Amino acid sequence: MTFSVRFWGVRGSIACSGPRTVRYGGNTSSIEVRCGDRMLLFDGGTGLRYLGNTLTGSIDADLFLTHTHFDHVCGLPFFKPFFQPQNRFRLWAGHLAEGMTLRRVLGEFMMSPLFPVPPQVFRARMEYREFKAGETLRPGPEVAVRTAVLNHPDGATGYRVEYAGRSVCYLTDTEHVPGAPDRNVLELIAGADLVIYDSMYTDAEYETYTGWGHSTWQEGVRLCRAARAKRLAVFHHDPEHDDDMLDGVARELAKELPGSIVARDGLVVEVN
Ligand SMILES: [Zn+2]
Ligand SMILES: [Zn+2]
Repeated sequence: MTFSVRFWGVRGSIACSGPRTVRYGGNTSSIEVRCGDRMLLFDGGTGLRYLGNTLTGSIDADLFLTHTHFDHVCGLPFFKPFFQPQNRFRLWAGHLAEGMTLRRVLGEFMMSPLFPVPPQVFRARMEYREFKAGETLRPGPEVAVRTAVLNHPDGATGYRVEYAGRSVCYLTDTEHVPGAPDRNVLELIAGADLVIYDSMYTDAEYETYTGWGHSTWQEGVRLCRAARAKRLAVFHHDPEHDDDMLDGVARELAKELPGSIVARDGLVVEVN
């Protein structure tokens, strides 16, 4: 009953490379969750390309998007398994306004003069599925994916995967209101084993970025404590946060919520 999370991209807003981000990594949001034989993917940032390069054989998988801001979809056209006819993917989005479809959003992103080829170049069987954040999805009989509305410009969806009596939550991009814990978030993460949370800023930085749609690692700690969630994974790092800065966050985090982690590219976490 394997239940694991692999981080392929942990960075927010824009990919970054170079010696100052080499340890935590510079790829934008992309996560792989394994529930036994079932593969669930979350977001299609630049990290998705590296995952694609490791996959072989015939793939049948679900890919859940938190939303369609550029850093969460820019890896989709570079995901090799989309170009292989034996594969089948269901792409899910729960944040779109009435009448808007995921197929259309992707088509407008992969469109001249912004992009050389349209989504019709994909050879895999692609299904685009819209839902309303708040619904519970069932990608398989043994897995439940609960969802909630997040507080983000253009909307975003938070996810909670439940499998084998355990749970992992993925909540990015979302902004908090200082002093007023987000009820949607508290409800979704209640008692969770692992909470991956938008930690773009520190509390001190947040004041400068009110309205940009992001939160802080300290708010993640407060939410996990209030909801009795076990472990926090600090995620969606600001590209300006270099390795030394994130080491500092990791030290503080270890004191505040033992067992918690600062996510980095390539990290695998067992959900237990
Ligand atoms: Zn983002
Ligand atoms: Zn966003």
